[in-house]
Amino acid sequence: MSPVIDPLALDLYSRLVALDTTSSASNLPAIELLAGVLDRRGSDLRILRSPDGRKANLWARLGPPVDAAGRGGLVLSGHTDCVPALEDDWSSDPFRLTDRGDRWVGRGAADMKGFVALAAALAVRLDPASLTRPLGLLFTFDEEVGMLGARDFARAWPADEPLPRAWVIGEPTSLAVVRMHKGHLKLRVALAGRPAHSGTPQLGDNAIEKSAPVVAALAALRRALESERPELGEYFPEAPFVPLNVARIDGGVALNVVPDRCTIDLGTRPLPAADVEALRARIEAVVRDAAPGASLETLGWSEPLLTAEASPIHRELLALTGQRDSRGAPFATDGGPLSALDIDAVVWGPGDISVAHRADEWMPKADMERASRLLVELVDRFCGGASA
Ligand SMILES: [Zn+2]
Repeated sequence: MSPVIDPLALDLYSRLVALDTTSSASNLPAIELLAGVLDRRGSDLRILRSPDGRKANLWARLGPPVDAAGRGGLVLSGHTDCVPALEDDWSSDPFRLTDRGDRWVGRGAADMKGFVALAAALAVRLDPASLTRPLGLLFTFDEEVGMLGARDFARAWPADEPLPRAWVIGEPTSLAVVRMHKGHLKLRVALAGRPAHSGTPQLGDNAIEKSAPVVAALAALRRALESERPELGEYFPEAPFVPLNVARIDGGVALNVVPDRCTIDLGTRPLPAADVEALRARIEAVVRDAAPGASLETLGWSEPLLTAEASPIHRELLALTGQRDSRGAPFATDGGPLSALDIDAVVWGPGDISVAHRADEWMPKADMERASRLLVELVDRFCGGASA
């Protein structure tokens, strides 16, 4: 039997996929679509603009206000942006949700417009008067380029307005319950030289040549890190260590010029309990050893997620799904920066992360159906309202 999906959720899903919300573009059309749907319920609805006004987060609250002492209720959160659809092997229009039998195909089909559509449709179907505790929805911008929307929300949310403690970040985990992920530290090594005409290279100082020992040293550090087993590594079976990736190298202007600068960008993903400063110092020492004049700049930092095993949202989702063990995810989410709000966030959503960011990204229909059913139960448990 074919899975049954709420027609409202499916309609929202296809309209969201039809909007090109690549992070470089504005997400306002998606925010306006969602706000328009949710506004009918007379909820506390806020469109929170980004500092430049081009993008926005959407916050909605249904049911009673948040009780400052208990902080009961639940928040469902997802990002509205997607990665560019530049792969040339799409077999259908990436911005059209396409039915392929047991799955839907489209950009953002898995990451993560399906969950956003389910959460919004569920909220529309609910009778807010039936809720004894609040249901919050947070839809963010720019997750794919450094969780900028979530970071903005965490920074700007008024301290005197309590938020529910329990959060679900609906990134695609194939409905596995995930309570931790690694952070992501992005660094740039800068190497300086002295320009000269390439006919007289001995008069210059070639910055690209200096990059070779740095790259070799970073590769050796990567191998060393891969042989280590830091705390919590057991929750990341596919990579129970601190990954390091030399991601980009840039330098040189023309064939007849000795390059006077070269930069190497790298990323590393410390485990949730790691000492990030110590890791950065270790990388810096390796770089300086290989190129004494090198400088190291931090380009960005995405916080890890570590939610207590005994937190109610984790325990309830384990019980609902029948999962018995605690898990980590190999990717970072909005849950990292949102953790600054003293919340318990669990990552749990339909779709498989391994098909995201690729041509013909797809969502199993069965995942959407199961997620839809379990979300209703979860909201019932945390907010005390039965949905229609
Ligand atoms: Zn995502």
